[in-house]
Amino acid sequence: MNIIGIDIGGNFTKFALIQNGQIVHRGKTPTKTGCPATLLKNLCTIIDGVLSATNVPTLDGIGIGVAGMVDTKTGKILSATNLGITNTDITAPLSQKYGSEVKIGNDLALFALAASKLSGIENLVYIALGTGINAGVVIDGKVLAGIEYGHTTFIPNHPTPCGCGRYGCVEQFINGKILVENGPTDTLINHISIMLTNIANTYRPSTIYVGGATSTHLKSFEKQLNENIKLSHFGYKNAPPITIKICDLGNDGGVLGAAFLFTQ
Ligand SMILES: [Zn+2]
Repeated sequence: MNIIGIDIGGNFTKFALIQNGQIVHRGKTPTKTGCPATLLKNLCTIIDGVLSATNVPTLDGIGIGVAGMVDTKTGKILSATNLGITNTDITAPLSQKYGSEVKIGNDLALFALAASKLSGIENLVYIALGTGINAGVVIDGKVLAGIEYGHTTFIPNHPTPCGCGRYGCVEQFINGKILVENGPTDTLINHISIMLTNIANTYRPSTIYVGGATSTHLKSFEKQLNENIKLSHFGYKNAPPITIKICDLGNDGGVLGAAFLFTQ
């Protein structure tokens, strides 16, 4: 199968041609944002470039990950604040132009799907520490919508507002910037442990991946985080164990996940 995977991020759009699960050609380009026509034109330039560079005669699918809220059934981007795009169908025009099925997904949902497919783990959560905290969930091998975990309430009645306008959101206390600037302090590790326990109790995955570029700062705390979760998640005495893995999928996670939309 020849599938083009595209991961549209706020700054860069990464893309790859994936043949039978393997990346055979990859690249990245600055994301052109602001209006649907510009976004579509940029996507066509990318796809045309991949087709001419690889001489692939036919495509079996085009998978696209978007940092934002998407409707996977209609193929619409509902809201992608970073891209300045709302309520836009990008799948129908691309499908028409290239005669290929086009699927979209939330970017973190696709990272979770990639983590699941690459590891063979069917129930997992992939959480990315960045400026905010986003996560994707795979249950029984099927990807769910991406979740804005960073905007669940962590400390009610907190005096300072979050960027979303609410007070006391998780990402006011845990994010990549805090991790890099202050280091993995006892307080931060405690907060992360609480967050991971909440995720464990919500989705009951067998593994929680903690990714995002800054997650490497937590690598030496992986054992401690596992110890903290081991005795704190609900029913831990009898329930199957939950493993925490500090593991960033890097640039390939999004494009692979987009391609895996065709084989999940
Ligand atoms: Zn918030």
